[in-house]
Amino acid sequence: MRHSKPDVVIVGAGIAGGALGTALARAGFEVVLLERENSYPDRVRGEFMAPWGVTELAKLELLQPLREAGALFTRRNIPYDEIFAPAEAEARAFDLTKMHVEGFGALCLGHPATCEIFAQLATISGASVLRGTGAISVTSGSRPIVSCVHDGASLEFRPRLVIGADGRNSSARKNLGFKVNADEPRNLLGGMLVKGVPSWPRDMQVIGVEDRFHFLVFPQGDDLLRLYGSYHFADKSRFDGPDRRAKLIDAFGRLTCLPYAEAIAASTPIGPFNSFSNEDHWIDDPTCPGVVLIGDAAGHNDPIIGQGLSIALRDVRLVSKILGEAKAAGREPDFRPYVEERAERMRRLRITAQVVTTLRVEFGQEARERRARVGKRVAAGQLAPLPASLIGPERLPAEAFLPETIEKLLAS
Ligand SMILES: Cc1cc2nc3c(=O)[nH]c(=O)nc-3n(C[C@H](O)[C@H](O)[C@H](O)COP(=O)(O)OP(=O)(O)OC[C@H]3O[C@@H](n4cnc5c(N)ncnc54)[C@H](O)[C@@H]3O)c2cc1C
Repeated sequence: MRHSKPDVVIVGAGIAGGALGTALARAGFEVVLLERENSYPDRVRGEFMAPWGVTELAKLELLQPLREAGALFTRRNIPYDEIFAPAEAEARAFDLTKMHVEGFGALCLGHPATCEIFAQLATISGASVLRGTGAISVTSGSRPIVSCVHDGASLEFRPRLVIGADGRNSSARKNLGFKVNADEPRNLLGGMLVKGVPSWPRDMQVIGVEDRFHFLVFPQGDDLLRLYGSYHFADKSRFDGPDRRAKLIDAFGRLTCLPYAEAIAASTPIGPFNSFSNEDHWIDDPTCPGVVLIGDAAGHNDPIIGQGLSIALRDVRLVSKILGEAKAAGREPDFRPYVEERAERMRRLRITAQVVTTLRVEFGQEARERRARVGKRVAAGQLAPLPASLIGPERLPAEAFLPETIEKLLAS
């Protein structure tokens, strides 16, 4: 068995792990990243980064590499909906460039590509990235232990700190026995990458509702689109079976409120159509002696509002700042500011996701009337938690998340 004692071992070199590995290696830490995959598959994850996540990227000095790799910026969000004609939806477009100081809009880039870029940046910055690592086991303590198998050899690390960044099914988290809180599953969300839609404007994203289908479309490079659809468990069979990819394209092709529906109907799937139940998961304190969890491993927001990438990057910025400051001062890091900020951030985003679910994944006449009413109220400036998912949850007053605010927003 080979032993080593780096400063930090990061389990999982995805969005959170790769970004943190880069930030820490740049700051002079000796970092080892342990990644299960040899190359990143399309597992259907986030490919839209909210404007507040783009701000986090810029603060971490990670924005430019993604731009150079061909990331697109969507500048307008069109809320196509069965409750109004396409021209009216277009008149209600949100200008995403106004949501943050950088003014880029939201960022769209494939999840496997982003993970690959971050892993390469971590390597260039001086971290060791061990891909194809298996059988990872973590033991907490003032000098935590990580053991794993890599290239057929058993390895053991005794770093100063272990970071669990191995995603929503984190084995580091299970290993250490963290208690995870979860809401009841609300609905299903599936996604798929398609090619062959060159007519889709590259600066436009769409989030809409028609019939019993909440649909989202984010452009990717060339003529690619990432399609997501959310639907009730009762409608699962409509999207199941060996021809489920064709079924998803057919659901988009039938949308009468979405211009480009025909163009999507003629597109070709180039990845899996995976679907997941939608709910929030959270941990009261994602730290234990010698270990800190970040990203989805620390608990994930309901993906219906597409916050996971931004959440992961905020975690990276806070944790790297705490470590950098402790190193400069020659003292032990205190992760309480991260734990407290994250708890409140996730609470606010949980409330936001619940309101969005009520608005966009409840269907029928009553739901249509509610969407129309709430749309008018928000346009008139009524306080609502909804902007949290674009500008960041901390930029709204605490009142935006109170039950009475939400009651007033949704009231008939
Ligand atoms: C259907 C769906 C749609 C989504 N849409 C959006 C969106 O539009 N916008 C958005 O911001 N977020 C979205 N998300 C959420 C977003 O993808 C995640 O929050 C984000 O990827 C979290 O980053 P992470 O680094 O924590 O986890 P991941 O990106 O999942 O990375 C985890 C890494 O750990 C590795 N790993 C896992 N287990 C092990 C192990 N045992 N040992 C070593 N390595 C391991 C994995 O291979 C992976 O590289 C979506 C999620 C889903 C499910």
